[in-house]
Amino acid sequence: MNKMRTFPQIQSLIEDSSLKDYPFYLRAHFCKKIVARCKKDFANEDIDKNELLKQIKQGIEEFYRKDLQSVINASGVIIHTNLGRSVIDEQIYEACKDKICSYSNLEFDLEKGVRGERYGVVLEKLKMLFECEDALVVNNNAAAVFLVLNSLAFGSEVIASRGELVEIGGSFRIPEVMRAAGVKLVEVGTSNKTNLKDYEEAISENTSLLLKTHKSNFALIGFQSEVSIKELQGLAGQKKLINYYDLGSGWCENLNANLAKNEPQIKKLVKECDILSFSADKLFGSVQAGIILGKKELIARLKKNQLLRMLRVDKLTLAFLEESLKAYLLKEYEKIVTLKLLNESVETLEQRALRVQKSIQMKSELKYSKALVGGGSMPDKSLKSVVLAFEGNALFNQAKFRAKNIIGRIENESFVLDFRSIQENELERLIKMIRELEK
Ligand SMILES: *Cc1c(COP(=O)(O)O)cnc(C)c1O
Repeated sequence: MNKMRTFPQIQSLIEDSSLKDYPFYLRAHFCKKIVARCKKDFANEDIDKNELLKQIKQGIEEFYRKDLQSVINASGVIIHTNLGRSVIDEQIYEACKDKICSYSNLEFDLEKGVRGERYGVVLEKLKMLFECEDALVVNNNAAAVFLVLNSLAFGSEVIASRGELVEIGGSFRIPEVMRAAGVKLVEVGTSNKTNLKDYEEAISENTSLLLKTHKSNFALIGFQSEVSIKELQGLAGQKKLINYYDLGSGWCENLNANLAKNEPQIKKLVKECDILSFSADKLFGSVQAGIILGKKELIARLKKNQLLRMLRVDKLTLAFLEESLKAYLLKEYEKIVTLKLLNESVETLEQRALRVQKSIQMKSELKYSKALVGGGSMPDKSLKSVVLAFEGNALFNQAKFRAKNIIGRIENESFVLDFRSIQENELERLIKMIRELEK
């Protein structure tokens, strides 16, 4: 007997009443997929229809879990790259709605009725906010680094400190980016110490640029020294070289004093180098983009590079970025969610944790802990935070909460929710989700 015949007809599976709540395209896709797989794996055995239906349902449910969906970040890592880095404020979102749900003057000069400059909507605001000569926006900071090196140093030597040849994550490695951008890396100094003299001695007639990279995601402690951007600027000026700072993150305004200490403020640094770049969705707290600031003559060279067309940002990005810039210029810092979370007082976090603790039945203990800035920012600094630590097996709790899109962390063998990275307007949803878990 041909065992294949014992498989239920695909059509009968697709029409089975137990799948009726799923849309047709998913029923059809997963019925065919699961039946094909079973025919391959169990070609010589009978297979039960209910077993097949169970697997089809499982396939569809797993597919739904992959949808982009909102999660509550209770990990305590504020700029969490896996969870989307910076959150957009609802008022900013509302302000963008009309601009992206209709045609816009993206590249059109409303005054003159002719073609306008694509980046016009953000350029003047960037220049005002950062007090710089000129600016440019690309897809992300990785693209910015690539564009700067390729436009300003192609075919020549770029000097960088061995202590700053970093890997950012997602396999973005400075030496490899340099190679891909067509520049020759000249390493100077050692892993822990680089002096100005090291740069000076490495300069040759083929050198065009001195690169400084912010040690975003690690810290050197102990016997170490690096050359400041200001010192490099002096040397670059003397030797007629370009001085570029890949800032990675960098902050703009209104960061609490404890975090701001020893961390680069963009406005100050832009005066100490020829050109710099940073991510718009790290400490700056906006959408994914790479912002480049610097001398007019250098930005003009970037604009001439054909690559810019490939790295250019969409109108959605420009709309959101424009609103974030306005918020900074108007000093409406409450619209920058990343800053708001970083600056929240411990007392406020305590009140929020208590509010959640009182509204649920699961047993938890309020504890003081430390949260992280994240996103490759400030690796050596932590923030005071408040957590609820739940009774019971940590791994089991972690999976249970994750099933409700609540992402916490494990600390001292307990599953904890860290309130440093939870927004106030998420508390009701958090409580509702935990109550559903308790059922
Ligand atoms: C994060 C970072 C980058 C990459 O920026 P993306 O916006 O993630 O592309 C590059 N350089 C440094 C120093 C960084 O910290």
